[in-house]
Amino acid sequence: MFDSLTSRLGSVFEGLKRRGALKEADVKEAMREVRLALLEADVALPVVKSFIKTVTDKAVGAEVLKSVTPGQQVVKIVNDALVEMLGSENTGLNLLGEPPVAIMMVGLQGSGKTTSTAKIAKRLTEKERKKVMMASLDVARPAAQEQLAVLGEQVEVKTLPIVPGQQPVDIAKRAMQAARLGGFDVVMLDTAGRLHIDDSLMDEVAAVKAAAGPSETILVADAMTGQDAVTVADSFHKRIGLSGIMLTRIDGDARGGAALSMRQVTDCPIKFLGTGEKMDELEEFHADRIAGRILG
Ligand code: GDP
Repeated sequence: MFDSLTSRLGSVFEGLKRRGALKEADVKEAMREVRLALLEADVALPVVKSFIKTVTDKAVGAEVLKSVTPGQQVVKIVNDALVEMLGSENTGLNLLGEPPVAIMMVGLQGSGKTTSTAKIAKRLTEKERKKVMMASLDVARPAAQEQLAVLGEQVEVKTLPIVPGQQPVDIAKRAMQAARLGGFDVVMLDTAGRLHIDDSLMDEVAAVKAAAGPSETILVADAMTGQDAVTVADSFHKRIGLSGIMLTRIDGDARGGAALSMRQVTDCPIKFLGTGEKMDELEEFHADRIAGRILG
């Protein structure tokens, strides 16, 4: 991800850095190029506009520090604006509350929800020493529940035994009950996806949320789908209320628009990135590191 954005921005800044003094016209010209690069990376237009305005205002009015060249200073201003656009603080997962706390994973089919559920469960088990149980509430897709059970064995996290025919809300209640009795800290609920957002999906997810009272509701979205991922997140947030986003497939050649637009459009933090199919290919999201990656 970000490869072409990085190389485009790189050449804009190379030009700026070579200049001894920066004139307003130089900044404006550079910002025209940055604007194009962001649009090409599929960043949402309102996000691009506010980004360019912030950077231009700061860069034109900035007093040049003695320690850096004017060009370097513009790069720093762009870096800071990127961090802000991406959401500066990483809040991590909220696991406060009386155990077991529920983490609900929602999203469209194929976004990487089941894989991401198991990745987060593995991380909580290994890094945070939590006793985690996973439960699949996907009764719509054949073998979805078995898929989670297989991943559970792989990452050595317990999964709720499958009761054929049981419906999502009842599975969620059974999972919470089993976790309470078994002394688990965290229950990860892998909800059903659909190919598109529809009312029955939203009603189901809302009913599960009401029954489980999760401390986190994480939308899993595929970075490769660009602005569609942002639209999906926005719809889920408005209807269900999200606490965070996990963006998957950033190991692919996604142009980065989803990552860059998500926070401002949805006002929801990106908490994790999926960086591959393997169970430890999960990264915590840190805006400063991503900005650093983009600026090369
Ligand atoms: P679900 O329908 O949303 O539960 O999606 P799955 O978890 O079944 O994932 C669909 C496919 O995407 C599987 O082949 C996963 O291995 C793959 N996948 C999930 N996350 C990532 C990721 O971060 N990177 C890559 N390259 N593949 C992923």
